[in-house]
Amino acid sequence: MTPAASAPARPWALLAELTHACPLHCGYCSNPLELTRRSRELTTAQWTDVMRQAGEFGVVHTHLSGGEPLLRRDLAQIVAAAEAAEIYTQLVTSGVGLDRARLSALAAAGLRSVQLSVQHADPRACDRIAGRRSFAEKERAAELVRAAGLPLGLNVVLHRGNLDAVDALIELGLSWGVDRIELANTQFYGWALLNRAALLPTRDQLARARDAVERRREMLTPDGPELVWVVPDYFDGVAKPCMGGWGAVSLTVTPDGTVLPCPAAATLPDLDPPNIRDHPLAWIWDHSTAFTRYRGTGWMPEPCRGCSHREADFGGCRCQAYALTGDATRTDPACRLSPDHGLIRSLADDGRDGTRVIRRRAPSRTETVG
Ligand code: SF4
Ligand code: SF4
Repeated sequence: MTPAASAPARPWALLAELTHACPLHCGYCSNPLELTRRSRELTTAQWTDVMRQAGEFGVVHTHLSGGEPLLRRDLAQIVAAAEAAEIYTQLVTSGVGLDRARLSALAAAGLRSVQLSVQHADPRACDRIAGRRSFAEKERAAELVRAAGLPLGLNVVLHRGNLDAVDALIELGLSWGVDRIELANTQFYGWALLNRAALLPTRDQLARARDAVERRREMLTPDGPELVWVVPDYFDGVAKPCMGGWGAVSLTVTPDGTVLPCPAAATLPDLDPPNIRDHPLAWIWDHSTAFTRYRGTGWMPEPCRGCSHREADFGGCRCQAYALTGDATRTDPACRLSPDHGLIRSLADDGRDGTRVIRRRAPSRTETVG
């Protein structure tokens, strides 16, 4: 008999994608290929209401992300709305556009911490990967955040072009005085999936980087930064517990108000993604197809259905299963028990080529850059 989906717990985390606009052009960007136009973005009043509803619904933490959230001129008002709803706010930014006045307005509105992305420890390589000169602005942003006394995290998306610089990236984080360094191997969604052949590392590269992280962990003092390594699921044979389970602990609101269990879920067929303009958040969470379709374990096929890990990894990622097999209900091919695991193994072993990176540019426009 198929086990019934358990009653949904309340979400505690909200990913607020305030805009898809961004001054950078990273080839690994997880934003969708169809970027939302600025004219379609939620208004200040609508984001204020999202925060109010989220707070009433039990959300206690939000990542204010994008795109580049600093491009929203009303960012401080959105932060203040989250603060009024008793939601802890973390700004996820490229650092481009963060000056002293902006930061102090955000801090005064209630901003609690900042995650700053960097593409490489070498300024020229960083600028090349970002598709724009920006390293100096990132360095300056880090200084400002530290001077303001806000917790600072360094976010790095790892791929073939920077995995050999892991040691130097950790050194950079130490020199910038960060509290946390997140080294996240590329997850292949959106632009990253489009550019997968250009981004996939070699197994040797990954092994060297993993060794470097372990070595650094042993050297760090207890008051040093937290060092987080997000596993490369294409290579480990293990499915990741995506978003802590489908519709289990977090939700994403995209720039145009679409509400999803994860940022990539709009790619799945038959989800009928709901919009905050049309339905209250509580109804969306409890009743929409988008949130109930893969919640719990009842939807699982074999081998997940009979597997002892099903409550731990939730069968892996639905978006990855769909992207690789064309069927979102299949076991994530990243899992070595999946009948489709051969697809991932051959990509991990043979998927590299010299393909040029296709860069995102502005909503609805693309540009090829070598
Ligand atoms: S990954 Fe790069 S291009 Fe995408 S939103 Fe972040 S900074 Fe902008
Ligand atoms: S078979 Fe399914 S539940 Fe079991 S480890 Fe693989 S993905 Fe996880």
